Amino acid sequence: MKVAVLSGGVGGARFVRGLVDVVDPEGVTVVGNVGDDLEILGLHVSPDLDSILYTLAGLGDEERGWGRADETWNALDTVERLGGSSWFRLGDRDLGLHLVRTEALRAGEPLSAVTAELARRAGLAVRLLPATDDELRTWIETPAGTFPFQVWFVERGHRDEVDAVRYEGASAARPAPGVIEAIESADVILFAPSNPYVSIGPILAVRELEEAIRGRRVPAVAVSPLIGGRAVKGPADRMLARMAGGTTPAHVASCYGDLIDVLVVDEADAHDLENLAVRPVVAKTLMSDGDARRRLAETVLAA
Ligand code: GDP
Ligand code: CA
Repeated sequence: MKVAVLSGGVGGARFVRGLVDVVDPEGVTVVGNVGDDLEILGLHVSPDLDSILYTLAGLGDEERGWGRADETWNALDTVERLGGSSWFRLGDRDLGLHLVRTEALRAGEPLSAVTAELARRAGLAVRLLPATDDELRTWIETPAGTFPFQVWFVERGHRDEVDAVRYEGASAARPAPGVIEAIESADVILFAPSNPYVSIGPILAVRELEEAIRGRRVPAVAVSPLIGGRAVKGPADRMLARMAGGTTPAHVASCYGDLIDVLVVDEADAHDLENLAVRPVVAKTLMSDGDARRRLAETVLAA
């Protein structure tokens, strides 16, 4: 079975981890968000690709939800003491990956090739692709000003309400090699329970990629990132309330228009399926442990 999954960081990574327990990982291609990428301390960081990589390699810190387990912060302490940018948290173990990636990118390798090599070295069986090799950056418009994604999310702690999200560079961005083929050869296309605006949105902003999904001949199934109208973590609920007008399954589905055929919603949202334009599937969607992750993946594939 061949599966293409659009994924952000933490929510997406948890979902893919369950998915590879129930389908052959060799058939799974993860198309990851790069709208969150940033240059910091001279390094290119791809937080969402790294969350997927660390989670699938079993290296992730499950409690913190991002970065590596067993992490130390000596390099960042030095940065702070020397007056460098220390607002974006980079641990010592994590830094090694960013050094290798940045060196390869500077030598002219595309992000997709660098990512493939990192994934191979980490022993991943799934194919991990950035949505694009081109520069595509998410910008957040708020009443306090317009900020690069990570400045809004990390430095400002996503406290500003969001009026609009822009994907800079999207109109010129081409899908990374392998992305269109993965979508066109998939038996099913999945949208992970990731933030629709800042995780899935930047992926769909790549025009040819969106067109490939629009032209699909197989079902596309999204999993809602909300449970009982609330985000499990992060600002997705506040963003939906302000930009889509609410946090029901219909509001979540409205972010994806006719790009999806099915929305998997939590039992806690089953009472509220009014105006939903796609087929709902009700399930327990909290991925609290391995069993819960696997059950969700099975439900999604059965849908
Ligand atoms: P990020 O890039 O690290 O912010 O991660 P994603 O965008 O991939 O995931 C963030 C979203 O995942 C949030 O909106 C959460 O509500 C959602 N999420 C996290 N854990 C779960 C879960 O167990 N179940 C569901 N349904 N959503 C989850
Ligand atoms: Ca992200």
